[in-house]
Amino acid sequence: METSKYNPQAIEPKWQKVWAEQQLDQTPKPDDRPKFYALSMFPYPSGSLHMGHVRNYTITDAIARFKRMNGYRVLHPMGWDAFGLPAENAAIDRNTHPAKWTFQNIEQMRSQLQEIGLSYDWDRELATCAPDYYHWTQWLFLEFLDAGLAYQKEATVNWDPIDQTVLANEQVDSDGRSWRSGAKVEKRKLRQWFFKITDYADRLLQDLDQLPHWPERVKTMQANWIGKSIGAELTFPLTTSEAKITVFTTRPDTVYGVSYVVLAPEHPLVQEITTPDQKSEVEAFVASVASISEIDRTAEDKPKKGVFTGGYAINPFTNQKIPIWIADYVLFEYGTGAVMGVPAHDVRDFAFANQYGLTIQQVITPKAETELKELQSAYTEAGVMIHSDRFDGLDSITAKTEIIKYAEAEGWGKARIQYRLRDWLISRQRYWGCPIPIIHCPKCGIVPVPDQDLPVELPNNVELTGRGGSPLAQLASWVNVKCPKCGTDAKRETDTMDTFIDSSWYYLRFTDAKNPKEAFTKEKVNDWMPVDQYVGGVEHAILHLLYSRFFTKVLSDRGLLNFDEPFQRLLTQGMVQGLTYSNPKKEGKAKWISSDLVNPADPCDPETGEPLEVSYATMSKSKGNGVSPQQVISKYGADVMRMFVLFKAPPEKDLEWDEADVEGQWRFLNRIWRLITEFIDVKPTISDVPNKNLKRAIHTAIKEISEDLTGDYQLNTAISELMKLNNALQDTSDKASTTFVEGLETLLILLAPFAPHIASELWSTLGYQDYILTHPWLEHDPSALVVDEITLVIQINGKVRGSIQVPSGSDKAALEEYARNSEVAQKYLEGKEIKKAIAVPGKLVNFVI
Ligand SMILES: [Zn+2]
Repeated sequence: METSKYNPQAIEPKWQKVWAEQQLDQTPKPDDRPKFYALSMFPYPSGSLHMGHVRNYTITDAIARFKRMNGYRVLHPMGWDAFGLPAENAAIDRNTHPAKWTFQNIEQMRSQLQEIGLSYDWDRELATCAPDYYHWTQWLFLEFLDAGLAYQKEATVNWDPIDQTVLANEQVDSDGRSWRSGAKVEKRKLRQWFFKITDYADRLLQDLDQLPHWPERVKTMQANWIGKSIGAELTFPLTTSEAKITVFTTRPDTVYGVSYVVLAPEHPLVQEITTPDQKSEVEAFVASVASISEIDRTAEDKPKKGVFTGGYAINPFTNQKIPIWIADYVLFEYGTGAVMGVPAHDVRDFAFANQYGLTIQQVITPKAETELKELQSAYTEAGVMIHSDRFDGLDSITAKTEIIKYAEAEGWGKARIQYRLRDWLISRQRYWGCPIPIIHCPKCGIVPVPDQDLPVELPNNVELTGRGGSPLAQLASWVNVKCPKCGTDAKRETDTMDTFIDSSWYYLRFTDAKNPKEAFTKEKVNDWMPVDQYVGGVEHAILHLLYSRFFTKVLSDRGLLNFDEPFQRLLTQGMVQGLTYSNPKKEGKAKWISSDLVNPADPCDPETGEPLEVSYATMSKSKGNGVSPQQVISKYGADVMRMFVLFKAPPEKDLEWDEADVEGQWRFLNRIWRLITEFIDVKPTISDVPNKNLKRAIHTAIKEISEDLTGDYQLNTAISELMKLNNALQDTSDKASTTFVEGLETLLILLAPFAPHIASELWSTLGYQDYILTHPWLEHDPSALVVDEITLVIQINGKVRGSIQVPSGSDKAALEEYARNSEVAQKYLEGKEIKKAIAVPGKLVNFVI
């Protein structure tokens, strides 16, 4: 008969079609059931699905399916983070349009996703590059503008002088050259749009406490990125003019040890301070720093470079003259653009002072000491104040606040909190992004595009060359417009938005994805949000998640949302690693040998025959160690792939792809297949005789798996429990009781969230008319978990004196022990000598006295 062989290639597409036709995965309208919003981070439509996607989406899908079966109404959508540079580059390389390339990729990836049996509500699919989506991205931009949170200012950008274009940091290689033209990248000041995320720095930090179900690691990364430091702003007057240098320091307790100050080369005071004899050296230094990236300037492992300006300031605390330097590691756009140099108590300053022969004055010691040894390295811990005038002898922690009070009283400074977080530069000089809905009018200035004129659509007839600034700026017919306020000839903004803006609100749009009149209705967004379970890669721990939290808080403050954290629970799934072959004798990219070219039994270089090193590394094209989901599906089916990625490692840990373990899941599903098809073939007469051991195995599985799928989602251990239940059903000699039938049903219901296709097929094979995926989840019966008991009769000298309940299957020694400890025995045996005890297993214990 047809059901005798497990054939996923026939079964899986059949069920995918049934689910789509029956609309099983569509989000139910609001009803009394509790809501559950399960969301995977949406992908960039690169065109091909990789195993990392499969893992991410399968985890979320298993959770979504489990919640549906548990009586939740579930929102489980999917969409495309579809703007961005790769499409623009592909368009240039292949002479096509970015929209065409992107939508082709979306088609391709959607069909790949559908083959995995993911329960998405495709009616809510969205693409951020579609006008019906970016209409609302633009509308939200104007909300930010209205709130005073979007503004323009001059900012330093990476400028490619050959291509005449702005480059992202990632497009500048380690030598400071453009990835495309190879030109030495310059720094240029351009007017750019910013979002004022710094206004929310403190709330973004404080509210991390409201996220107990986020990984600690992610919260720490966000806190570090926000980088709150509590300290003081101190001023150092110049010796030659009224001007003052302001520094921010978290170590006011070290101020008596300040032996120089350092300005950023871009600091406006540099010119005034520099003396004629230092002028040429300073100018050469400023020019050389201008071509170095910020990352390189502040990299910890790079030596710091500086130049003396010839000028001096006064340390108001010591009244000493201290030299003013400029150095590459001080950034003008961070803090005040100036720092105080305390070499005795700062690692970087210690190195800098030694390099340039600057004074090192120790002002804190580990404990009160009279004789100081020369410092071999900076002392950065707390301790006791010395050489600090009125603060000598104080502990340095107390001294911090006391020195700030003193500075405030003397007018030398004040307490200050500083954040590392800077405003979010959102403008890009690119075509394939959301146009910023602004018109620049010579009379009115910045004018928002009126609501009725949204969306500002991207023009199609644009020429993409990758050169000459924003492609939109070249298109006069698009750029030139009348001012909506006064009718004067005006120009459109030609920058587009950072794609992180598109992804900062997509989860809100899913709640009302097709609404043509609003970004979302309050009713729907407040019904579904916040996301109950968000799943995605830890590489998004900072930017995407921080920006999304920022958006949510702003929109909440605007009265558009009634919650201010978007993601209640976050799971950052581990990487998928593949078996990786490298030739240690080769350099660079050539050292990676694609696994397709290697015989795993004898791994050697196909070109040279040299032996290869074998390791596990995150799957990537460059290492040639990827496994394509399509290959796995065509060999084993989607359910086996799903089972493997869920079983092989806990969701948050890295997973090593292992063919043998994939085979293991194939065998497991085949065993389930045979168990049920054989039962149907045999058509046994079902008996009512209860099977307590089997019943216990069934209800243990229900209990354990339900617990594993609650809270932290231990999907791997849930599958181990499924295997135990399968073993119990395979091993029992009783394959014809109502308990056995209950066991088969239970196995399929518990399997359904993980392997939905085979579970659906076997459920229908067993003759059920409903869909297993909408079948209610099971509740365990606590009484079934109780170990079986028997009544043990207790005799004294052959006379029945009473009975007790004991576990069945107890051996003679155990029975005697139970009997001796029973109340009955103690009553009759007290003070008597037991000559002999006779235990009859399953029946009685007789004490002879
Ligand atoms: Zn105007």
